[in-house]
Amino acid sequence: MLNLVIFGPPGCGKGTQSARLVKKYGIQHLSTGDLLRSEISQGTALGLEAKKLMDKGLLVPDEVVIGMIRTRIEGNPQSKGFIFDGFPRTEAQAEALDRLLAEKGNSIAAMLSLEVERDELVRRILGRGKDSGRADDQDPAIIGKRIEEYSRKTAPLIEYYQQQGKYRQVIGQGTIEEIFEKLSDLVDATVN
Ligand code: AMP
Repeated sequence: MLNLVIFGPPGCGKGTQSARLVKKYGIQHLSTGDLLRSEISQGTALGLEAKKLMDKGLLVPDEVVIGMIRTRIEGNPQSKGFIFDGFPRTEAQAEALDRLLAEKGNSIAAMLSLEVERDELVRRILGRGKDSGRADDQDPAIIGKRIEEYSRKTAPLIEYYQQQGKYRQVIGQGTIEEIFEKLSDLVDATVN
């Protein structure tokens, strides 16, 4: 199994690069943001609760996203692996992910961290918001809050994965193809 975490602040290109990595390595994409938006569009109770926090740019509770990830991992025992996108976002989530994978003798191979400057993040997210219509992508104050949540609760995970020797940093500016090549090289170096 090949399990990867794609990491970085909102707007750094995690979703775009995940789609390419999925094709290249035959692994499954698990984005907690996408899963939550799907709950919202289905009008589930979980979705309605999560939406209140997402609209403010705040994280949803750990147990909610951990539960969604557990269901997907346990429901796909034949999978060649997963790319976790937007998860983990807190230390509790990272520990839960390690435990879930360890139950089946698996682990994270590498954490691929995309680094992008703040001004560029805001520019990209506002651009995406025009096409996607996502409320949290259209308001500069909410975007600022999301970046703040990232810096405060999520960025410390760099150290968590550094300690495991799994942190791989990539500059997330340049063309999509250039960044994808750098990511692929890192994955190849990890598995070979
Ligand atoms: P994303 O699509 O990854 O930018 O996520 C959109 C929003 O969903 C975030 O701003 C959070 O409110 C929520 N969310 C997504 N993933 C997580 C997570 N792993 N932990 C907590 N909240 C999350």
